[in-house]
Amino acid sequence: MLKCSFCNCESVYLARYSGLHYCRLHFTASVERRVKRAVREQRIFERGQRVAVAVSGGKDSMTALHLLSSLASARRGTEIIAVTVDEGIRGYRDRSMEVVSDFCSIRGIRWVTRSYSEFAGFTMDMLSSARRERTTCAYCGVFRRTIMNALAREAGADVIATGLNLDDTAQSVLMNMSRGDTDRIAMMGPHESSVQGLVPRVQPLRHIPENEVLLYAMVSGIPFLQSSCPYAEEASRNMFREVLLRIEDEMPGARHAMVRAASRAAFPRRGGKAGSCASCGDATSGERCRACELREEAASLVGRGD
Ligand SMILES: [Zn+2]
Ligand SMILES: [Zn+2]
Repeated sequence: MLKCSFCNCESVYLARYSGLHYCRLHFTASVERRVKRAVREQRIFERGQRVAVAVSGGKDSMTALHLLSSLASARRGTEIIAVTVDEGIRGYRDRSMEVVSDFCSIRGIRWVTRSYSEFAGFTMDMLSSARRERTTCAYCGVFRRTIMNALAREAGADVIATGLNLDDTAQSVLMNMSRGDTDRIAMMGPHESSVQGLVPRVQPLRHIPENEVLLYAMVSGIPFLQSSCPYAEEASRNMFREVLLRIEDEMPGARHAMVRAASRAAFPRRGGKAGSCASCGDATSGERCRACELREEAASLVGRGD
């Protein structure tokens, strides 16, 4: 029997990047300690009274919501608000919304949602079957970000916490690095202040590898939906995921190093006139924001009915 590096109990997990074995108890304590460190480093509770958590119902966002709401309950005057965007994807989002809804009502967490139907007049199911040149994700990413931001702003939140884990972040670093997109790397967050009119984003799970989030959610009994979006067209992200795991396998600790390197290199974006969108008033460098452009384009594709 392999033993925990901290006590005499049986090991349930080996962190290869540190060589440490963990029993169940020491594993959960270690995850919680690293999340608390991220919360301190990013000053998540110090910036104001309200923290919005972007929740999809998957393991990462549910774990972030669980941990932040536990930490917030020990602090007077701090409120957690769960925020969910309903893309209108039958058999997927409706099921995950149920998971979030049940969890929030049991834990007494305020939950606000907005659908693509309310925002743009159509669902993702409708857009996916319309003839179009862009991928569904091209619209979805922009709409989701815009709606999340609006919901957080309306709820009076000072930051939006996302469930991005160590692997997600390292994948984005690799992707943006490979495209030479230093602006994107600088914008990845966590944000210290509002960037381009957006509520600053923070990442409490930033130090936790994906497999550890999954194990933590399972041993802690956190409910979550395991399926992924039926329209996901993330071929390139999947390639980076595989490459990253290969690198990590050969060089344990590489993910941590990449994320550290990127955050040291992050710089505030220079220049770019911060005007406001003629249609919705959101910050944009052009005449109208990307969300408004894509919303109009998508609406005409759905409306064409072919
Ligand atoms: Zn132990
Ligand atoms: Zn706009």
